Amino acid sequence: MTTPSPLFDRLALIGVGLIGSSIARAARSRGAVREIVATARSGSTRRRVAELGLADRVVETNAAAVAGADLVIICVPVGACGAVAAEIGPHLKPGATVSDVGSVKGAVVRDVAPHLPDGVHFVPAHPVAGTEHSGPDAGFATLFIGRWCILTPPEKADPGAVERLAAFWRALGANVESMAPSHHDLVLAVTSHLPHLIAYTIVGTADELAEVTRSEVLKFSAGGFRDFTRIAASDPTMWRDVFLANKEAVLEMLGTFNEDLARLTRAIRRGDGDALFAHFARTRAIRRGIVEIGQDSPAPDFGRPHPDLPVEPLPRPYAVSDDV
Ligand code: NAP
Repeated sequence: MTTPSPLFDRLALIGVGLIGSSIARAARSRGAVREIVATARSGSTRRRVAELGLADRVVETNAAAVAGADLVIICVPVGACGAVAAEIGPHLKPGATVSDVGSVKGAVVRDVAPHLPDGVHFVPAHPVAGTEHSGPDAGFATLFIGRWCILTPPEKADPGAVERLAAFWRALGANVESMAPSHHDLVLAVTSHLPHLIAYTIVGTADELAEVTRSEVLKFSAGGFRDFTRIAASDPTMWRDVFLANKEAVLEMLGTFNEDLARLTRAIRRGDGDALFAHFARTRAIRRGIVEIGQDSPAPDFGRPHPDLPVEPLPRPYAVSDDV
């Protein structure tokens, strides 16, 4: 399914890792833009982007990438967005839309907005879709299908520019919703950032214990632990930046989590089976709700389709659910 006519003439991608390369692949396969210009920090990534044919042109600098672009999407770790914005600000075309894909929105808005000139539309975005893999080879055109893309436009944003970016994400297969950056950060702290922190913690803890039981940890990792190891394999730079940038919301959610953990600990210590059962029954219902609204598959993790699925015909929205 392609878009009848391109929504933007020239798309500039700054950073071509998992997310940037998935946008390039999806935008091209859907005909959402006429031309793609891309750049990345290192020569090796730029070369790989050219080899993979992900863009019509691969250029060396961020300034060259944005010159004449109608839509600029910054696809670098959250902590690097401000420096990129400072670099591209003077080279943006009047009337262009600047967006990003950062997993934290408040910090990105704070760091990017001051560098953008009047007459340029800033519409931050977060596609809530991803995997634990990084780099231009890791992306795939179907990544965003059936997933959410959250826009956090400033109050005074031009409605036409916001709608055009929403149409772009819908063309890539995403469902689009708008909210305030602070609300986004609170929601994602509990649905994504905290789960990643727990995965990073538990895999580290198991590794410390593994001195005694290394073979058992590996052998029996088909259980819950295996899912934790996959999440804990996510990119260290990206996740360092997420926790630094969303400190307040994560600490708030961590406080609530610690209280809940203390309640469950007490139930175990007291042998309170009713409390444990009631808690697990509630969480089972939450899981079933997620499957019912199509945000994950009931199949076990190893039943997931491979990312290299053909784009046409559209596969049913499937679960690449380590949404960040
Ligand atoms: P990635 O695969 O690691 O790619 C990152 C890209 O950014 C690479 O092109 C890299 O260039 C460039 N880069 C890294 N550090 C930079 C810096 N200091 N200055 C300029 N460029 C830099 O990362 P990703 O997973 O695509 O994540 C990109 C953004 O998407 C992040 O903000 C993340 O929060 C957000 N996001 C990620 C996911 C996910 O599941 N991974 C999901 C939704 C949103 P080189 O290769 O040349 O180093």
